[in-house]
Amino acid sequence: MKALMNNRLRRKSWFFSLLFFPFILFSHNLLAFEENQKALRCGTEHPTEQEAVLQESYFTTMNGALSNYVQRQVGLAGVNVHFHVITDTFGNGALSLLEINNQMSVLNAAFSATPFSFNLASVTTTSNNSWYQVAPSTPAEFQMKSTLRVGGAADLNIYTANIGGGLLGWATFPSSYASNPINDGVVILTESLPGGSASPYNEGDILVHEVGHWVGLYHTFQGGCSSPGDFVADTPAESSPSRGCPVGRDSCQGAGFPGLDSIHNYMNYTDNACMFQFTSGQSTRADQQSGFYRGL
Ligand SMILES: [Zn+2]
Repeated sequence: MKALMNNRLRRKSWFFSLLFFPFILFSHNLLAFEENQKALRCGTEHPTEQEAVLQESYFTTMNGALSNYVQRQVGLAGVNVHFHVITDTFGNGALSLLEINNQMSVLNAAFSATPFSFNLASVTTTSNNSWYQVAPSTPAEFQMKSTLRVGGAADLNIYTANIGGGLLGWATFPSSYASNPINDGVVILTESLPGGSASPYNEGDILVHEVGHWVGLYHTFQGGCSSPGDFVADTPAESSPSRGCPVGRDSCQGAGFPGLDSIHNYMNYTDNACMFQFTSGQSTRADQQSGFYRGL
């Protein structure tokens, strides 16, 4: 009798496994999908640690040889901004001048303790279904930028579109300008502008983050816990992106890793409401990188 019960139970549990198997698979896939979406938040192509170290060595040597660096005063590096609004043929993605100016105000407020100030120099609106769904390193991106990009290394070209794949934006670094000037600039999700629908990333800080890359900053979690990380001394090492607003997170622990994770830093992945800081070290690095590579 006991054996029979056990057999029955076994059969029953096997039957339930079959019943729930598709669901387990589905929920697993869903979780993986959501994780992937989160992981892909910023599409800026970062160098490997080895590449970053080599690039830094070149920069340090050249910069040291060419100039006696003195950090510029707050607001003295004026950047002309060319804002390119991409819509689909139904007009989805259109932005008013007020919405663009609100975004510019968030950008300037975020950089207010740095040498950078941003002036809206031009606005274009282009209807193109392919560009509206632009993704990094695609023919659509190349065509869009080849057609619309204006100015030189010191001009900031911003494109807003309905980018997919879980991305909120991507940017190019100052060091990339010389080898690929057409590609230079920042692309962001239209709905990430202040008041957009991309909550919790709809307060305008996605543009701040991407412009951070454009002036030469890496993510605060670049290189994980290993040195030299993001090449900024006053941003503590961080093993992986912070998400949400994890107060007290300390992902690199031990004697060699003082300080909590920079969850409030613009170069992290936290919610817009959680991020409001550039450090003094980041300001210096951005100033040096932009001065050297962009002549800003
Ligand atoms: Zn980024």
